[in-house]
Amino acid sequence: MREISAAAVTSAVRELFIDANQRLGDDILAKFESCLRHETSGIARGVLEELRENAAIAREEGSPVCQDTGLAILFVEIGQDLHVSGGDLRAAINEGVRQGYAQGYLRKSVCDPFSRANTGDNTPAVIHYDIVPGDRMRIIAMPKGGGAENMSRVEMLTPAAGLRGVEDLVVETVERAGANPCPPTIIGVGVGGTIERSAILAKRALLRKMGERNPDPEIAGIEKRLLERVNELGIGPMAYGGDTTSLDVFMEVEPCHIASLPVTVNIQCHAARHKEAVL
Ligand code: SF4
Repeated sequence: MREISAAAVTSAVRELFIDANQRLGDDILAKFESCLRHETSGIARGVLEELRENAAIAREEGSPVCQDTGLAILFVEIGQDLHVSGGDLRAAINEGVRQGYAQGYLRKSVCDPFSRANTGDNTPAVIHYDIVPGDRMRIIAMPKGGGAENMSRVEMLTPAAGLRGVEDLVVETVERAGANPCPPTIIGVGVGGTIERSAILAKRALLRKMGERNPDPEIAGIEKRLLERVNELGIGPMAYGGDTTSLDVFMEVEPCHIASLPVTVNIQCHAARHKEAVL
């Protein structure tokens, strides 16, 4: 049984959240460039140039890409032959979030849902654990802004709604969201499982790199068709109009109950931040 310390987990989580907030992924930056080449609206191109410049300044100065530095979401894959010593894993992860948000001068955005009192340190994090083969731990840190999360949607469709119903729900959700999720967006779609499983599938889908299609050719075709449909809405970058409403659409699908068709559309803004480490 391999062993790692809880302190190593804390340290990794701290660095991941600082890095994710300051440095957009290279795939997102490359996607901005390709959208700039294809966008036909001058205003939209201007907005894309500003997003590109904002990302460059954040990298250079070590400042956050956006003032909303997000609720801390983590996907943690734990090898079944790995043991964490010297502390409680959940506490170690939350300590990493606490340190990262303090040391990175990141806004603390977590509060009690009713009193709205801020917890003061951006904890508790939302942590999704998965036990996997092996003796490693993969930690994916995803600071998720509130504006895009608020425009997301969970629906229990009737089975008769079928694929057409799912596709229409995605397009309608993006249209209804308009400017609120700071487009250009990335759309994560989770279909199947149960109500909570569809939501986790949708969120996980947002971790894919730009252009990374579902390995199932049929689902990959749906992703491409949906990307075309949402971009035909003409909402454009920051809703000033244009061809670039969404950067990509990712769909994950699992079997579900014969009486159900759970669908979650999880919207991610252009500040699509996620970083990972393997311990
Ligand atoms: S939706 Fe995204 S870009 Fe807009 S304020 Fe929130 S985190 Fe920032």
